[in-house]
This record gives sequence, C-alpha cells and structure tokens, in this order.
Amino acid sequence: MPALLLLVVLLVPLLAGCVPGGARSDGVPTADAPFTLTALDVGQGDATLLRTAQVAVLVDTGDPDADVVRLLRREGVDRLDLLIVTHAHLDHVGGAAAVLAAMPVSVVWMHPVPDAHPVVAEHHAALREAELRGVPVRGPPEGASVALGDLVLEVLGPPPGRPYDWTRGELNNTSIVLRATVAGAGSVLLAGDAEREAQADLLANHRDRLRADVLVVPHHGSRTSDPEFLLATGASLAIISVGRGNRHGHPAVEIVDALEAAGMDVRRTDRDGTVRIGLAGIAAG
Ligand SMILES: [Zn+2]
Repeated sequence: MPALLLLVVLLVPLLAGCVPGGARSDGVPTADAPFTLTALDVGQGDATLLRTAQVAVLVDTGDPDADVVRLLRREGVDRLDLLIVTHAHLDHVGGAAAVLAAMPVSVVWMHPVPDAHPVVAEHHAALREAELRGVPVRGPPEGASVALGDLVLEVLGPPPGRPYDWTRGELNNTSIVLRATVAGAGSVLLAGDAEREAQADLLANHRDRLRADVLVVPHHGSRTSDPEFLLATGASLAIISVGRGNRHGHPAVEIVDALEAAGMDVRRTDRDGTVRIGLAGIAAG
C-alpha cells in the first residue's frame, strides 16, 4: 500500500471516529477527503450539497422558509455548477427560485410537469427564474452518465414510459434518482422521495448500480421505502433529512431499525443538524 494511502486510512478513522467510506468533515473537499456531502438542515425537506475540488452541486432546495441561500453561503458556496430538483414538491423545489436569483448556476436539472397538473407555484417560479437568467433546464434521461469535472452523475430513475398519472402521491415516484461518484473517493446514492413503486423499478433495472458508500434515505425515512432497496445500496452510512417533530411521523422507526440492523451508521438532520461527510476512498478497505 502506498505510504500516502496508508496515512489516509490510518488518520481518517482517528480524526473522525469514523465509519468506512464517510468521515465527519467540515464540508470543504481536501486531499484526504476529495468528495464531500453536506445535508443542509432545512427542517422537513431535502437539500444536499455535493462538492469536489472542481465542482459544487446542490440536490434539492428545501422548503421556502428554510432559506437555503443563507445555508449555502454559510458553507462558503456562492455558485453552483448544477442545481437538481428531484421532484416538484415544496420541500424539494421550495428554495430553487431563490438560489437561481442569488448566485450563478450553470445548469438546472428538473423534469417538466404537465401544464394541467396542479403543482406548487414554486416549481413554476423556479422555471421562470431559470429562463429569466438564461440558465438551461434539462431533464436527463434514465441511463445517462454525466461527468462534471471529477464528479460523475449516473441517472438511475425515473425510467421512461412509466404510467405516471401525476397524482400527488405519484409525484414522489417521479423523483430523479442519482448515483454520484468521485473516482477513488466514493459514491453517494440520492433518490429524492422515491417510494416502493419507483424503488421496485430501480431494483429491477439498476440493482448493480445502486451500490454506494453513503445513502441519502428516500422520502425522509418514511415507511414508503422497501428495506430491500435500502439495503441493496450496501451503504455504510445513511443520512435522513427530516424536520424535528414533523407532522408526518418521519422517519419511520422500522426504517431506522432496518438501516441500523444492516450495520449502517444513521445520521439525522433533526438530531444532528447539518450533517457533513467527507468521502475518503476507504470504503472498500
Ligand atoms: Zn420530501
């Protein structure tokens, strides 16, 4: 083993009290942890910042009241290479227009929703703000693999041709599902609010590509997840972005139990606040 790698392997556990594949971090990428994930504490919602030395990507933007722009600035982020809105629910799209208005964003990924579907005004506000600022909006297809600098994003869902009827419940299953990887550092799986139906698609279509060091648990740890899907990731660390005392009862006890029984270290924004993880490429060690 090269001396430097050995040093990292030894130091990261010592410094972080750590779990394989994900160590506590200040969120800023370093030579020892070149890929970081920051689950911003947006209360009941999701806003996950992925950073490498080369790029910054935000996946979801929380509720409008969460003021994700302030949280991003606190993390030292003043521009984004990519803003992804997994789906058009308020706790994911709520801060998107504000982000676009506040800082340069190179590209937005979000799927169109049929005009007739009554989605939240914030979805349309985000599209208007992107158009106003000339930011391209794309909906990358399932199966796409996109390299952004040293970060590779694989789009695992939703699959084309699903008979989504765009009812409110189905909107969760339209979530963009991603595996984000930095070679030599590790992978993160993000599945928005995907529920059992979409998770069944993922298990059928992409079981081998679900493997990741860190899992951002779908739908705030709701019981709408299939434990088989969660465990298929083989993650050593699971993050649940969830509001303190939320009215939905998230996360479900049985989901947290399933994660912990599988040996995952579970971090929760309702208890831990903003969660910062550094991926140091030691998961396979
Ligand atoms: Zn949600």
